[in-house]
Amino acid sequence: MNLDSLYQEVILDHYKNPLNKELLPNPIAQVTHLNTSCGDEIVLNLHLNGEIVEHITWDGIGCSISQASTSVMSDLLTGKPIDEALVILNSFVEVIQSKGKLSGDDEIIGDGVAFAGVSKFPARVKCALIGWMAFKDALSQGLSKK
Ligand code: ZN
Repeated sequence: MNLDSLYQEVILDHYKNPLNKELLPNPIAQVTHLNTSCGDEIVLNLHLNGEIVEHITWDGIGCSISQASTSVMSDLLTGKPIDEALVILNSFVEVIQSKGKLSGDDEIIGDGVAFAGVSKFPARVKCALIGWMAFKDALSQGLSKK
């Protein structure tokens, strides 16, 4: 099995069995993000506990890349200190915006490396980032309420 098909399998697994795809009530922030060019939609609820990302739960519809990437994001960032979550987020965004130049470090972005190939397809970049941008948005809203 080559790396590309392994990565496709990771994406398909998260698409079929998405993690944290059940909105928890009473979030500190709720956001809805749309990617109209593809038809992706993500609703994300954020719960913080002090400086820790306690829960990231979400619901959504759209292509396999958007749904799988949101699943990976919610799994990676849940339980992390906020500053660490932002390091992971920035690293993932850098890879996805690299136009195929970066392959990503799986010690930082975990299953996020499976999406590195998406960076070669400008039309799909938004799909890979929608959940991550929703988290970033919810975090800044949540922090402003503290
Ligand atoms: Zn999409």
